[in-house]
Amino acid sequence: MADVYTYVIGESIYVNLTNRCNNNCHFCIRNHNDGIEGYHLWLKKEPSVKVLKNELKDCAKYKETVFCGFGEPLFRLDDMLEVAAFVKDKGGKTRVNTNGQAEIITGRKDTAKRMKGLIDTVNISLNGVDAQDYVNECRPEAGALAYYSMIEFAKSCVSVIPNVVLSVVDVIGEEKIEHAKKIAESIGAKLRIRKYI
Ligand code: SF4
Repeated sequence: MADVYTYVIGESIYVNLTNRCNNNCHFCIRNHNDGIEGYHLWLKKEPSVKVLKNELKDCAKYKETVFCGFGEPLFRLDDMLEVAAFVKDKGGKTRVNTNGQAEIITGRKDTAKRMKGLIDTVNISLNGVDAQDYVNECRPEAGALAYYSMIEFAKSCVSVIPNVVLSVVDVIGEEKIEHAKKIAESIGAKLRIRKYI
């Protein structure tokens, strides 16, 4: 079976950059599925920037090019930004769906600034209303530090990225959703409640 590097769902095209991730979320689709909407997303080999540019030649005809596959895109930040620049040159819009642990993954504090002008929307999985809750839900390799790293990254995005969204899955319960709304408001981000799949 050939690797799937880009795939179309609805009006958007998605980029499957990597299977690497430093979380092990209870609700991760990878725990019970090999892909989404019939696309098999486990990779034998990560795609090169050249291959991705070739597959994204027509990206402008889609609503968005979304860096969101079966792993955490920030593990390939440099490559992601190069592909995002290509998409913007073609007149497309870009979004990254991330766990937000930018500093832990890249070792740098400037990820949001580097995304400026290249990424239109950052969607950060909040999925915990405090550090302990996040650790329970997402089982991050970095422990509680992961939660604080994610929140700091979200704050750093708000002044440089046009659209910053925190997301939670709908199964966490009303009380936590209300708490998540307050966190998003305090940061200046939107909150998206997404369906658990
Ligand atoms: S951060 Fe995303 S890819 Fe990683 S384990 Fe959680 S849901 Fe899965």
